[in-house]
Amino acid sequence: MTGEPQDDCLFCKIVAGQIPATIVRETDTTVAFRDINPQAPTHVLVIPKAHHQDAAALAADAPQLAADVLRETRAVADEEKLDSYRTVFNTGTGAGQTVWHAHAHVLGGRGLEWPPG
Ligand code: 5GP
Ligand code: ZN
Repeated sequence: MTGEPQDDCLFCKIVAGQIPATIVRETDTTVAFRDINPQAPTHVLVIPKAHHQDAAALAADAPQLAADVLRETRAVADEEKLDSYRTVFNTGTGAGQTVWHAHAHVLGGRGLEWPPG
């Protein structure tokens, strides 16, 4: 069920401390940690602690939590001293989503072309 920890979810395991991650920020409802395969000098993932499969489900089922995630992306950018940065939610396989626990990518520290590939 949405919101409940999933035994087979990588990011639920990071929340539970069962898989190590380089955590940069934590709040009551969110965790931010460095991506294992960084695409920019700063590449941090911000996730809700509760399991929601993607950003669409998170926004629909827990809008306050979605707002918490978005606020934390700004906090990460501030901590990383980024004046320009990109916040990305890949939603669905065709958009590149590979982990089915909602997460925002925070990318910065280099030029980011637009539109992306
Ligand atoms: P997606 O492709 O679903 O938008 O993003 C998933 C991200 O999770 C990818 O950028 C990938 O590098 C990252 N990732 C996958 N496995 C791990 C892991 O075990 N630890 C960390 N820190 N990041 C991971
Ligand atoms: Zn999960």
